[in-house]
Amino acid sequence: MEIDKSLIDAVIKQVVQNLSENPSACQDAACCAESKIPGVFQDMDSAIAAAEKAQAEYMECGMADRKRFVQAIRDVILNQSNLEYISKLAVDETGMGCYESKLVKNRTAAELTPGVEDLTTAALTGDDGLTTIEYSPYGVIGAITPTTNPTETIICNSIGMLAAGNSVVFSPHPRAKKVTLDTIHMINCALEEAGAPKNLVVTVENPSIENTNKMMEHPKVRMLVCTGGPAIVKKVLSSGKKAIGAGPGNPPVVVDETADIEQAAKDIVNGCSFDNNLPCIAEKEVIAVDSIADFLLFNMKKNGAYQIDDPAIIQKLIDLVVTEKNGPKTDFVGKSAQYILKQIGIEVGSDVRIITMDVPKEHPFVQIELMMPILPVVRVPDVDTAIDVAVEVEHGNRHSAMMHSKNIDKLTKMAKKIQTTIFVKNGPSYAGIGVGGEGYTTFTIAGPTGEGLTSAKSFARVRRCVLVKGLSVR
Ligand code: NAD
Repeated sequence: MEIDKSLIDAVIKQVVQNLSENPSACQDAACCAESKIPGVFQDMDSAIAAAEKAQAEYMECGMADRKRFVQAIRDVILNQSNLEYISKLAVDETGMGCYESKLVKNRTAAELTPGVEDLTTAALTGDDGLTTIEYSPYGVIGAITPTTNPTETIICNSIGMLAAGNSVVFSPHPRAKKVTLDTIHMINCALEEAGAPKNLVVTVENPSIENTNKMMEHPKVRMLVCTGGPAIVKKVLSSGKKAIGAGPGNPPVVVDETADIEQAAKDIVNGCSFDNNLPCIAEKEVIAVDSIADFLLFNMKKNGAYQIDDPAIIQKLIDLVVTEKNGPKTDFVGKSAQYILKQIGIEVGSDVRIITMDVPKEHPFVQIELMMPILPVVRVPDVDTAIDVAVEVEHGNRHSAMMHSKNIDKLTKMAKKIQTTIFVKNGPSYAGIGVGGEGYTTFTIAGPTGEGLTSAKSFARVRRCVLVKGLSVR
């Protein structure tokens, strides 16, 4: 039976309206019959059982259905009041990041995450017949999500994993519980209104390390996808299951004497300050050739950088934001430059977007993935040294790096030496995830396991079907 498009539009509009009026309590009694909030279960075993049942039903749906369900996720997130609601709640609940950037990130995740079109089929034909190679689902995927991109990761993982025919059990960070549960709620209601099986996207009422461990060990969870810091990525990769690890970065940005310095300064401040430096791809330290370093700093200041020269004040800042174990203090992760400066007695306006200082490469602000708008500048004599220092301070994460230069040979040299998944030339870091740069987006960038910028095909198994002696028409 053909369903009228205007009817689908009307249904989506109604769901969206219901959600916007009261995003944390579903209006549809049938939809919420099994769990208080659709998709949200009391315990991990029930969540996984529901996701398994949903995936079995999902296998009965066609590709046109999958496309429709993916579109329903995009539509419900792109509804302006929903977009604003989850973006605001993410900042309010986690105390990290900034609302305007979250709006951009959530919108980008909904618009630019690839769907079913990512699953291209390959075919081989010849005297012996026809062989097709297709992407097939794993079944139930367990996905662990970070505080830094709580909703963006849920949106992009849901689209990619469902496009590939899976269901997904999310294990969010406890500090992002409400915004995660509300986003999963929105997605479930939209999916159900679009006619999808119930519980394709699920989680538990009380996210915790114990629940994450349970999920990782559960035999029905066929694949694990972890977006987070080094400890949890290591744990997931030691699970004995097929796993994708999207771990930490410490992205350096190299600026040489051939670069357009004024543009470089603008791009660097824009990239570093985006969502108060929470993105794993964001500029974390600058390595600048000495001959242009002063002009670069001058232009960074013109674009909202606040430079600290006094070693005593820099030490005060270290004491404020770095832990004894040489990690970032959670209370300052994703906070604004204005807020951080205020804590050490420096009052500035909101036009100050980053804090900078001229330091050697050994400095903790260079070495540690801070995830705050603190951007040290390291001076080096020449571009070759800059590239070596960038490789060193990236710590082998092979995550992201940037370079501002007009010298093709040196751009190529850096790309080859640093081996990062994302390498942005002459632009801000976020160009690497499709914001002002060509290409699709993801918020799960898998360096350690090599999938790179994950998409639907990363969440699928490659299978071969062979028809012997037939269907080749050459
Ligand atoms: P985190 O490692 O503290 O937490 C990530 C997730 O793992 C959370 O859901 C948390 O509850 C869970 N977790 C952490 N330790 C656990 C344990 N021992 N057992 C079970 N579960 C555990 O990271 P975060 O602070 O939320 O996020 C920031 C980190 O994530 C940064 O290092 C950042 O670079 C990285 N990140 C990477 C990507 C990427 O695509 N590569 C994207 C976003 C964030």
